[in-house]
Formats: sequence, structure tokens, C-alpha cells
Amino acid sequence: MSGRKEQHTFIRQAISVEEATRHVLEAVRLMPPEVVPLAECCGRFLAADLVAPQPVPHFRRSGMDGYALAAADTAKASIQAPVILNVVDNIPAGTVPQRAVRAGECARIMTGAAVPDGADAVIPYEKTAEGGPNTEGFITCFVKAPAAPGDNVSPIGMEMEAGETVLRAGTRIGQGEMALLAMFGAAAVKVHRRPRVAIIATGAELLEVHDALQPGRIRNSNGSMIAAAVTEFGGIPYQLEQVADDAERAGQAIMNALAAYDAVVTTGGVSVGDHDIVYDITRSWDGDLKFNKVMMRPGSPTTFGVRQGTPLFALSGNPAACYVGCRLFLRPALRGMMGAERAAEPRMKAVLAADVVKSDRFTRFVRGVLTSREGRLEAAPVGRDMSSITVSLRDANCLICLPGSPYGHKAGTLVDVIVL
Ligand code: AMP
Ligand code: MG
Repeated sequence: MSGRKEQHTFIRQAISVEEATRHVLEAVRLMPPEVVPLAECCGRFLAADLVAPQPVPHFRRSGMDGYALAAADTAKASIQAPVILNVVDNIPAGTVPQRAVRAGECARIMTGAAVPDGADAVIPYEKTAEGGPNTEGFITCFVKAPAAPGDNVSPIGMEMEAGETVLRAGTRIGQGEMALLAMFGAAAVKVHRRPRVAIIATGAELLEVHDALQPGRIRNSNGSMIAAAVTEFGGIPYQLEQVADDAERAGQAIMNALAAYDAVVTTGGVSVGDHDIVYDITRSWDGDLKFNKVMMRPGSPTTFGVRQGTPLFALSGNPAACYVGCRLFLRPALRGMMGAERAAEPRMKAVLAADVVKSDRFTRFVRGVLTSREGRLEAAPVGRDMSSITVSLRDANCLICLPGSPYGHKAGTLVDVIVL
């Protein structure tokens, strides 16, 4: 496409970040469930509730190394007058008691072992002393303190009852969830499929990462950035061939990708330059354009549409804008596709640590450093916040969300932050 853009390129309808996020969340489809080995589940979202098939523990379990006994036998035990019991069994973890414990008897038991019938308490070694064999041939145990019924015995179902919902569909599987799944024998788990995400960088200036620099040209760094974002958010990234600013070729590449992948992310070509081709594509395609201007900075020309259920995120080529676009829109989208119960980006409150003098009618997402000082969170802009700057992405651990204001923002103001 040559020549100047038509007038209507410039009259885009700007919507708020919240509205744009709503469009994204409404548009994305839930990925179908698949059953995967437990070891591959970490970071995925459950497609079905996990209901406890058995109580935990499923046998009366000792919480101590000591002696299992009937508490009533030890009521009068003291250091001066220990109660002497016959040791009738030895129960290491993983074994079952050979016999019940009767009055005057106890069983040596290890942590995690099954408590024998007849015993209602386990007394730890520290409160006992071992005696030699008695006339009946039993090793004896001197109990030097009374035990109360239930001491150091986990009853059946103490942690969870059978039939209890342990994990709900939509839960992200992390360390604790992995443990629970393993505990209940879920060797294979039903989770939503990870979206396969195509990434297409557009721009005639772009070199490949392995290319030598040339005058006037830069390496495609956004492609790697987006791929990292996709991976971090749970998807599988596919960096497709870069395309120059040729609306026809780029359009073909995007349409092919939309047909072959679960989502497509492009970078570059969305603003109002002479070679900004994404607008042309979204004007002539058979998809549904949801928005092409968001009241945010960086990244106001961020564009989003859906074709036959497949979302297209057309992010700005400016590195910081691309970064913010990934965070604000791609993250909730991928999480939603993977079945997350809470897909939207969570925000926290922090105190702005420095004045931000720049006025803006749009919400600004400022790269910041979040620290905890005297019990409150403080967010300080990292500086060098132009959308063309990549290096300050390295320094930021949060995005400070500053609502549009003609006066800028004063230090000490309570602001929203997105923790990176
Ligand atoms: P555009 O959105 O195409 O107008 O690009 C805006 C700015 O971002 C320009 O300076 C581009 O050179 C730069 N840019 C575009 N695409 C990329 C990319 N993939 N990696 C790094 N910088 C880019
Ligand atoms: Mg460009």
C-alpha cells in the first residue's frame, strides 16, 4: 500500500482499558480439555473439580515417634511413679499393627504408622524410658507423664473427608495443588489445552535476531518478548516469519495464522504511519474488529479482533507498548482460554513515590519499582519511560497505573499497580 492513509484512519473510537479487557475476555474461547500426566500439569488450570475419593488420613495415623497406648492406662503416670506397660508390637511407618493393644500394653510406633486398635494416644519417646524384659518376656516401657485421648493420633478424615471438593475447576495447578492431585492418585489430570499462539512481527526495518546490524535497521526484539509472555502466561509460542510492511503479504500471513493457531499476536504497523498495515487488514478481513484504540499509554493504537473464534492481538511495535499490551490483554486472554477462574490482571495499591508531572488524558502504565517501606508498598517510576525504550523494562517490577489527569500525579497518592 503506497501513499497517504485515508482520513478515517485517524478517527478511531477510543475505549477504556476496562472495556477493552471485557471485550477480550468475552471474545476468547475456552480451550478443550485434555488429559495429561500429572508431571506436566504445573501451571495449567483444572478442567474438572477434584473430589476426595477417600478420607485423609484413611487410617488412624501416628503423628509422633513413641508408644501407642490407651490413655486411660497412663492417668496416674508421673516421673516419680511411672506406669509400666508391656511393649507388645513394633510398628514402623508403612506397616500395619500385628495386634490390638490391651490394658497394660503399648506398641512402639513411628510417625506416619497406623495406630493399633485399642490405642487412643501416642506418647512421644521423650516422656518414656525403655525397661528391660520382664518376667513375661516383654520389653517394658516406663511412661512418665499422662497421655490424653487423641494425643498425637490423626483420626480418619481429620484433614479431609471423602467426597469433599478439594480443588475446583479453574484452579491453577501450583505446588500445593500438585501435592493434592498426587495424594489422591490423579496420575493423569483433566486440564484445558494450552493455546498455541502465533507471533508475527511486522516492519521493513526488522532483522532476525541472528542477523548482523545494518544501518537503519534493528533486530526484532518484540518477537522474543511476546514469546516469553506467551510462555509465562501458559501458552505455547510460535514465532512465524517476520513480514515487511506489505499489507497484502502481512494480511495473508495473519489470515493463515488465524486459521492454524488458537491465537495470533502481531507487533508493529498499528499506528497511523504511512506503512501501518494492520488497520488496512482489519478493515478488509472477514473478522470482527472489537477495538483499535484504547485510552492508555503506551499502546493507544492496540487493536483486537476475532475471526471465527480466534483472537488477533495487534500490538504496537514500540517495545514498551508491546510489553504493556501483552500484560493487559494477552495475559487475561490466555488465562481465560486455559480455564482460569480469575483471568483478569490483578492490581494492588501502592503509594506513588515521586511526582509524575506529565499530564495525560489517557491512563498511563508507567514502569516502576515496587518496594515495601515501613509497612506500606511504594511504587517509584524507573524513569526513561518513553514507549520506544526497552532497557527500562529490565528495571521494572511493576506497572504503575496512573489515570488520565491534566495535572499529573503527586508523590504520596495511592495508585494501582500491576506486579510483574
Ligand atoms: P510501529 O508500531 O510499526 O509503528 O513501530 C513503532 C516503533 O517500534 C518503531 O521504532 C519500530 O522500529 C519499533 N519496532 C517495531 N517492531 C519492532 C520489533 N518487532 N522489535 C523491536 N522494535 C520494533
Ligand atoms: Mg512499523
